[in-house]
Amino acid sequence: MKFAVVHYGDPILRQRGARIESVDEALREKIAAMFDTMYRSHGIGLAAQQVGLALQLAVIDVRGMKDRPSQLWISGQPADVDAFMPLVLINPVIRPTGEPTTGPEGCLSFPEIYGEVRRPAEVEVQAMNDRNEPFEFKAGGLLARAIQHEVDHLNGVLFIDRMDSETRSEVRDEVDTLQAETKKRLKRR
Ligand code: ZN
Repeated sequence: MKFAVVHYGDPILRQRGARIESVDEALREKIAAMFDTMYRSHGIGLAAQQVGLALQLAVIDVRGMKDRPSQLWISGQPADVDAFMPLVLINPVIRPTGEPTTGPEGCLSFPEIYGEVRRPAEVEVQAMNDRNEPFEFKAGGLLARAIQHEVDHLNGVLFIDRMDSETRSEVRDEVDTLQAETKKRLKRR
């Protein structure tokens, strides 16, 4: 199974993902294909909507980003981020806890478009894994940012929605061009 990454302008990116009742072998194959797509595209996170599936499902792996640190706490204790990767989040519920911080973000659905986004620095997460087991943890740094970016996708929210008006206007032309190209391509299909 091979996925292509959906670009901005495709209406699925604005669709809220359906809750997953239980993970079966067919869905596990899709999850493996999502990781494949993410690694091939050099991303650190990918939401189901970005491969054309409106589901409460995202995959994350921040191991490649040594210059932007992440923090992890399990049961209140600091834990090894790398050992926690790759991360599958199913039906995630998050509660931001830290102070808002600004940091650069990109998105595989917006090739070559980057901007500063302000988000809480830490986040508490409850989710299900691909073995149908509930788990919870707290994340900080890049991992907290990636999780919030992906959970936004699952609710049809995109990083351009979170940019302040100045940043948003800096990327407006590129975003409009991308949207027009995607719509043209969808019409031809
Ligand atoms: Zn994204």
